[in-house]
Amino acid sequence: MKPKSNSILVFKFGGASVKSAKALNNVINILKLYSNRKIVVVVSAMGKTTNKLESLFEAALNEKHDLFISQKDALYDFHIEMIKTLFSNQAYETIKHEIDLIFDDISAFYQKKSDHSKSQRYDAFISFGEHLSSLILQFKIDQDLKESQWSDARKMIKTDDQFQKANVDWQTSIELIKTHCLEALDANRIIVTQGFVSSNALGETTTLGREGSDYSAGIFAHALDAESVTIWKDVPGMLNADPKFFEDTQKLDRISFREAIELSYYGASVIHPKTLKPLQNKKIPLYVKSFMHPTEEGTTIDVDTSNDHMIPSFIFKKNQVLFSITPKDFSFLIEANLGDIFLKLSEAEAEINIMQNSALSFSFLVDYNANKIESIIKQLSPSYEVKYNTDLELVTVRHYDKKTNNFVCKGKKILLQQRTRKTARFVLGR
Ligand code: ASP
Ligand code: MG
Repeated sequence: MKPKSNSILVFKFGGASVKSAKALNNVINILKLYSNRKIVVVVSAMGKTTNKLESLFEAALNEKHDLFISQKDALYDFHIEMIKTLFSNQAYETIKHEIDLIFDDISAFYQKKSDHSKSQRYDAFISFGEHLSSLILQFKIDQDLKESQWSDARKMIKTDDQFQKANVDWQTSIELIKTHCLEALDANRIIVTQGFVSSNALGETTTLGREGSDYSAGIFAHALDAESVTIWKDVPGMLNADPKFFEDTQKLDRISFREAIELSYYGASVIHPKTLKPLQNKKIPLYVKSFMHPTEEGTTIDVDTSNDHMIPSFIFKKNQVLFSITPKDFSFLIEANLGDIFLKLSEAEAEINIMQNSALSFSFLVDYNANKIESIIKQLSPSYEVKYNTDLELVTVRHYDKKTNNFVCKGKKILLQQRTRKTARFVLGR
């Protein structure tokens, strides 16, 4: 497809793509490949910064002062070392000043009294990571490439008050995004903004959930009617299995939105699951590409379903718990009992990964979580005989064939299996 001359590209750079000075220089080189295009850059916190901020946050709440200081200093040094390598003297002083201000806020958090909920405080604190990365990247683009604009995502993505997993107020956000971005893009400035971060109606910081930067990119693209979104990753595209656990993975060259939504629902971790819907609604293609090999074709996710069946994909969920329950009075499992079971499970906030029933028993699988297991048992044990098995795996095979099924189940005990036309699922034990 020929690009519309006026159209906008949304690029999302994740933590790994901005984890070092070298990585940031690489981002600049990627942007150079698109020098005559309108670009919105959505960036995550650098490397593992979000995890480090999480641990700082806990240290502050638990009043572990020495730990807080040493971890904060390490995070500060990491960012300062980076800008030393990236910037000339003058620019270094300016950006260092900005970073110092952010770290003043980080330090102040330790003492700060607040009657806000833990989730609300978490969001306010955790967003420093994206603040830092977006500032540094924007300065870098300004210095090395062309004029750019730092834009505060909290002034554009508006949400409700569900801290840590906020829901987007689409209408307001679309308007605000357009207002903040279009003029700058027309003036040929690259926009640099933060992934993951948003704010509620009062302007208090909210976040879209861990790994939510992909979703932010989807929101910006939707609001701006972008030509495409590109997620730049440390893998060549979407793969048919997790390369952390398997050697012979295959790249999926092209799949449909539907297929990608299914894969991420089953646990494929390449794209944040919420990212796809706002793109699908407007038929905006999503490219997953390697930041190491930016000119190579990655994966295209769009409306075309014709390639979906080409390669079997398989997704493992580890650390699963299989519950099996039977009514104590040996009544059959009819709709009324099932209704009761679901009510109790939702009471226990259980998220069910797979389920199955027979005349007298109902089985369901959940992620291992000690507290949850306890509350599930508490809910169900008055009326049901409850048994469970831990340390299991759930494997989902999309577009399965015999060879793939045999491969994923090899040497393991199959405790439960289900097949539909496109999907086979196995609960496996040793
Ligand atoms: N920095 C956030 C996280 O690590 C958001 C993201 O990277 O998508 O969860
Ligand atoms: Mg990430």
